[in-house]
Amino acid sequence: MLGSSIAGKSVIVTGGSKGIGYGIAKVFAQHQAKVLVVGRDLKVAEAAARELAKAGGAVSAFAADIADWPATQAMAKAAADRHGGIDVLCANAGIFPQAKIEAMTPESWDEVMAVNLKGTFLSVKACLPYLKKSGHGRVVITSSITGPVTGFPGWTHYGATKAGQLGFMRTACMELAKDGITVNAVLPGNIITEGLRSLGPEYAKGMAAAVPMGHLGEVEDIGHAALFFATKEAGYITGQTIIVDGGQIIPESQDALAQM
Ligand code: NAP
Repeated sequence: MLGSSIAGKSVIVTGGSKGIGYGIAKVFAQHQAKVLVVGRDLKVAEAAARELAKAGGAVSAFAADIADWPATQAMAKAAADRHGGIDVLCANAGIFPQAKIEAMTPESWDEVMAVNLKGTFLSVKACLPYLKKSGHGRVVITSSITGPVTGFPGWTHYGATKAGQLGFMRTACMELAKDGITVNAVLPGNIITEGLRSLGPEYAKGMAAAVPMGHLGEVEDIGHAALFFATKEAGYITGQTIIVDGGQIIPESQDALAQM
């Protein structure tokens, strides 16, 4: 059965303490994985782990800033020590402060690059020795439709990191194929999370109106796509993307949507 290969696997979910990462961790826990949820705030991560443990599997928390190399190495070691290795890395943590180019500071640009792009690289690099040892390692990156496919004013830095993650993926998957490791990415559309809620109800309402399915996605929708890439059955898929957006990128015009 699809997903049965996940039971007992050691899984790291960066940003697993909230939002999409929480949904990813939940789906893996429901499939009896051993999950390490990671965020900078340990208390929040611990509360998430307690809640997630109810779904099944063994879930624990670890505090790390993925933009920091020693912290990211400590994260990988903690997963390996607690769970006997690392089979799956869900490189999901990300930030999305909004600022148009004229208002954006060089510091804000650097911060988004450091967390979203360098953080992806550091997470993969730190987990690599363990993923190699696993013999069937999986890296699943949470990118976005914003950057790789679409644009949104205020997110030049964010869009650049999300497109950059795919550039990283396409070469990483080649470098790591000899070790049996696959590297793929899920591209969410607008998913209901704490982060999205903080952008206000008008933003959420406006985004839902642009989605052919008529509603925003749930965090578990991303979890199911990430789980698929991590299964034994997906072992011959690498360097690929799945867009999970309720059809948001499809309509060629406002009129096309209106005619539905
Ligand atoms: P969120 O609700 O704000 O959650 C972000 C998570 O990442 C939290 O667990 C946060 O924990 C953690 N995090 C942030 N910076 C970190 C750092 N430097 N080191 C370690 N952990 C860090 O965000 P989200 O909406 O779920 O977004 C998650 C991912 O999905 C991001 O990569 C984002 O680009 C992508 N995405 C989201 C949407 C959407 O609609 N929500 C759409 C497309 C793509 P702490 O704050 O405790 O560190």
